Amino acid sequence: PFEVLVVGGGPAGAAAAIYSARKGIRTGIAAERFGGQVLDTMSIENFISVSHTEGPKLAAHLEQHVKEYDVDIMNHQRAAKLVPARHEGGLHEVVLENGASLKARTVILSTGARWRTMGVPGEEEYRNKGVTYCPHCDGPLFKGKRVAVIGGGNSGVEAAIDLAGLVAHVTLIEYDSQLRADAVLQRKLGSLPNVKVITSALTTQVDGDGEKLTSLTYKDRNHGTVHQVELEGIFVQIGLVPNTEWLKDAIALSNRGEIEIDARGETSQPGIFAAGDCTTVPYKQIVIAMGAGSTAALSAFDYMIRLPDE
Ligand code: FAD
Repeated sequence: PFEVLVVGGGPAGAAAAIYSARKGIRTGIAAERFGGQVLDTMSIENFISVSHTEGPKLAAHLEQHVKEYDVDIMNHQRAAKLVPARHEGGLHEVVLENGASLKARTVILSTGARWRTMGVPGEEEYRNKGVTYCPHCDGPLFKGKRVAVIGGGNSGVEAAIDLAGLVAHVTLIEYDSQLRADAVLQRKLGSLPNVKVITSALTTQVDGDGEKLTSLTYKDRNHGTVHQVELEGIFVQIGLVPNTEWLKDAIALSNRGEIEIDARGETSQPGIFAAGDCTTVPYKQIVIAMGAGSTAALSAFDYMIRLPDE
């Protein structure tokens, strides 16, 4: 069995594996796709101390760094089931989709998340060519330009407020007849001169010139009329879905499906830790996921050295 089994090979999982291996304990990492969301990212400008890098490059560095240690890397392996130990200090079991079963004294879950997409024509084609999901990451790329934010929940309204300070104009589009964000955010939004809010609007299409995004089409749900907004960027803010469907019966999840953790990264099950975008951590970013993965690994080590000898 492993002493630490990490499930997920993004920034959080890679950091957890390195921190564990550096303690000289038997460490394994199983990942569906080593690199995680970073693989889908073009330019990264907020990975502190590296002023600019690209996703695939950072993913390769993550893997290379993990490989410098004695870590058993199981890439292209999807975990399907977690069976927590029956008694404290016992072995947890992770069952892979291919039927194999991995046993470990501690488990670190770092399966990340995926952005909810609109599922409209053009969205995929213009992804990273104007369509984006992360205002913290890509906001500055649209300095002085016109953008739309899709979604009037807290994240959409926060994004609109954030972007209004950077871009020329923000159009916020909400499907419902009213915004769902906290009142204090809505008040702040209402005070900004370069933001226009459109409610009861269904985005139906994203258009471009083949190279980059040029406009968005929406349907007015009250009148059935179709409108076009010319712009350079679209920030889709309709939710981040944690990859935790397979954990429902094993550990406590929040009502959004995020793994509930404490400040040490421990879940509701002793000996099972979690880190990164799959958890209740308030912000989802690379440096934050790496810090959380390191925390979880150190906590797993602390947990193990306190276990009584068998
Ligand atoms: P992830 O990166 O999501 O990794 C999850 C890992 O778990 C993957 O290896 C995945 O294959 C694996 N996995 C999932 N389910 C299973 C399973 N059942 N079994 C086994 N393995 C599984 N952040 C920044 O800080 N700066 C940026 O510029 C930036 N730009 C971004 C651009 C885009 C397009 C996207 C999508 C995200 C961006 N982010 C950025 C956010 C950043 O990528 C994430 O916060 C970070 O990758 C989270 O790391 P993680 O390890 O928690 O999860």
